[in-house]
Amino acid sequence: MLIVQKYGGTSVGSFDRIRNVANRVKSLHDEGHQVAVVVSAMSGVTDKLIGMANEMSDAPVERELDVLLATGEQQSIALLAMALQKLGVPAVSITGQQAGLRTTGSHTRARIDSLDAAVTKPMLEEGKVLIVAGFQGVNAEGHIQTLGRGGSDLSAIAVAASLEADVCQILTDVDGVYTADPRIVPDARKLKEISYDELLELASVGTKVMQSRSVEFAKKFGVKFEVRSSLNTNPGTIVIEEHPSMESVVIRGVSIERSQARVTITSIPDQPGMSARILKPLAENEINIDMIVSNIASDGRARHSFTMHTNDLGRAQAALKPVVDELSDTAKIETEAGIAKLSVVGIGMRSHSGVAAQMFEALGEAGINIGMISTSEIKISVTVPELKIEEAARVVHKAFKLDSVS
Ligand code: ADP
Ligand code: ASP
Ligand code: MG
Repeated sequence: MLIVQKYGGTSVGSFDRIRNVANRVKSLHDEGHQVAVVVSAMSGVTDKLIGMANEMSDAPVERELDVLLATGEQQSIALLAMALQKLGVPAVSITGQQAGLRTTGSHTRARIDSLDAAVTKPMLEEGKVLIVAGFQGVNAEGHIQTLGRGGSDLSAIAVAASLEADVCQILTDVDGVYTADPRIVPDARKLKEISYDELLELASVGTKVMQSRSVEFAKKFGVKFEVRSSLNTNPGTIVIEEHPSMESVVIRGVSIERSQARVTITSIPDQPGMSARILKPLAENEINIDMIVSNIASDGRARHSFTMHTNDLGRAQAALKPVVDELSDTAKIETEAGIAKLSVVGIGMRSHSGVAAQMFEALGEAGINIGMISTSEIKISVTVPELKIEEAARVVHKAFKLDSVS
């Protein structure tokens, strides 16, 4: 079989952990499988590299940041290859560029343009174990680019797609995808399976067990994969296209996203084109917003509210000020930081009603005040005070009886 495995930062976080990974990879090689391993930087290294860049400059040039960040993964691939070679396994470490991973788009959050297996496939066929640097590639102009935080997941899915792997495993420090982050909700249960769409929604609202773009990519290219632990041999969670029996579960999981802020623009003239005028400067400044809510106040004027990461609040205020000043004499920007987002996700929501009411009731009974609300076909999100977010996650998890699913 052709097996692609990805080991995350904690799984290669110390010399002993790297030796553990080497032993696991050796067993697969000894069983006669072809193995390609995608590796992250050792845990904490990427953050440390960002800290170093910030020492040198208040606003490091992103091209240089990518050159620096890519070194984290280059350390771990070389170390893992050495550990495997010591065990007599013919391992070779290769960078994203050497593996043929072509990127496009902005530095520090590039997208994958293409991944050609012309180099990797023959190496595997020769019996080599390939150790590929995650998170990095090279663009058409030859510049090193990185794929956004958590981007080694994306590299692994892309390597699996390009090699048409029989098995793709994401090995991490938890046993699989749980109904909620087990660090926050102790009763969270491991899911046997989850659909791409559900994991994609969860990942995009804070469940960082997989990078959301990697799930999107897996869905697009039909890469079935498993999330499991690098520290034991327990079966993990299979991530696949949805099948009809999955709809019987209304809520698959609960997710939280901290450090959110709300911006509200009040007293906007109720005329066509106003929303676009307000959102344009945010888009131009690459500020991501979500949970957009607008309504008409009793004076006939409109109000628009949206949420964003707290880190973007200052830039958003600066970008919005000139537009709001132009809109009307009375239009104002109000802000609120210290909020967090709680979301429930499940494809079963499409065919069940009353899910939102059940969620709001559980929060109300716990005395947790809801701020904004937004829904999609398979997700309901609310904002709550950040200090209450963990309690809110536990209460809602319990209300949907997620502690008793398997
Ligand atoms: P890696 O370094 O292997 O990429 P990450 O730290 O990115 O690992 O992701 C694993 C972490 O994701 C876990 O330690 C866990 O705390 C967190 N997590 C958040 N939500 C969930 C969830 N629903 N199921 C499993 N893990 C989750
Ligand atoms: N090392 C990168 C990060 O910390 C990529 C990854 O671990 O997936 O975000
Ligand atoms: Mg990760």
